[in-house]
Amino acid sequence: MAIKRDSADKWFSDVVRKKANHTCEHCGKVDGRMECAHIYGRAAKSVRWSLDNAVCLCHYCHRKFTANPLEFTKWLERKLGVGHMDMLREKWQCLMKTTKQLRLEIGKHYREEHKKMEADECHKPISYN
Ligand SMILES: [Zn+2]
Repeated sequence: MAIKRDSADKWFSDVVRKKANHTCEHCGKVDGRMECAHIYGRAAKSVRWSLDNAVCLCHYCHRKFTANPLEFTKWLERKLGVGHMDMLREKWQCLMKTTKQLRLEIGKHYREEHKKMEADECHKPISYN
């Protein structure tokens, strides 16, 4: 993989998958390893760790949507709403510079959200940004 994965990515992915109860948000599959699928790719730092920009998908659906971005967009518009997608596009267009310190802070934020979700299954994780 070309983009390095750090603790911010790891805990973000854990929260996204736990938030969906490790269920594929597209096909409803529950068994097998779930993946954190970004709507806008991880190169865009402004949305890389935003819960608005990720869904939990099984390996099969993730691969299918990566190969069919138009289909992915259509499904997202139905699932999350056009308003959400408009808001997300604006967020995606913002520039965000990251430092090692900021990434550590983001990692810590999601590690704590994950802990809260484990303690209370009704806890709704808060997005870092
Ligand atoms: Zn699936």
